Amino acid sequence: SVTITGVTKSFGNVKVLQEFNQKFEDGEFITLLGPSGCGKTTMLRLIAGFEKPSSGEIYIGDKLVSSEKQFLPPEKRGIGMVFQSYAVWPHMNVFDNIAYPLKIQKISKNEIKERVNQVLKIVHLEQYKDRFPSELSGGQQQRVALGRALVAQPEILLLDEPLSNLDAKLREEMRYEIKEITKKLKITVIYVTHDQIEAMTMSDRIVLINKGEVQQVAPPQEIYSNPKNMFVANFVGKVD
Ligand code: ATP
Repeated sequence: SVTITGVTKSFGNVKVLQEFNQKFEDGEFITLLGPSGCGKTTMLRLIAGFEKPSSGEIYIGDKLVSSEKQFLPPEKRGIGMVFQSYAVWPHMNVFDNIAYPLKIQKISKNEIKERVNQVLKIVHLEQYKDRFPSELSGGQQQRVALGRALVAQPEILLLDEPLSNLDAKLREEMRYEIKEITKKLKITVIYVTHDQIEAMTMSDRIVLINKGEVQQVAPPQEIYSNPKNMFVANFVGKVD
């Protein structure tokens, strides 16, 4: 689980997140949804440990990872991450890309092989393990990035607009695939998007944010059928 209590974040004197209080349960698929600049990525970076909150606390499970006095760096938080741009290394084949996080942990060669092969199966890239990124489609490249994020068996997976560089058809396929893979692994997912169709189709719960403030937290159906305020009603009424 991820627990966020009283978290605020300012850059200089600009407050980009106001009093964030949320608990995300084990195995939940949570989407942070909202217009550009509302603070979604900042929230994700705070959870990842790339930023320190200006105030408040963040727990991963029972472990305090961010507070005024305590700060655990990203690599010690047990999280996997995938970002918008394919962060795969062009000079490494698929196998080596996925193996990378294990190699820097000095795990035995045999175990690396076993775990990478498992992940290749999960992300449906078994036949592509010797290919280089330039020989893959955009969707396949994002699956490599996903495999690399999963290989160290994180408790939490953070995804920041992972599909926004893909064409519409691939985006639809990958929505389904990401959901299926993460449910199978029972991993907690925090997914950032400004695309409400992604949010509606993938999430257990949506956290709708505007200008750094949470507007509503609810399952997709409820956001649609019972919007809490005018911002929510307008936002879900609009399809771009
Ligand atoms: P998008 O969908 O466009 O990525 P977002 O909802 O993810 O937007 P953030 O990237 O979290 O928004 O940014 C929230 C606000 O904080 C923006 O106004 C942004 O300009 C500001 N901001 C983010 N990082 C910094 C920084 N390092 N220094 C100053 N301001 C920042």
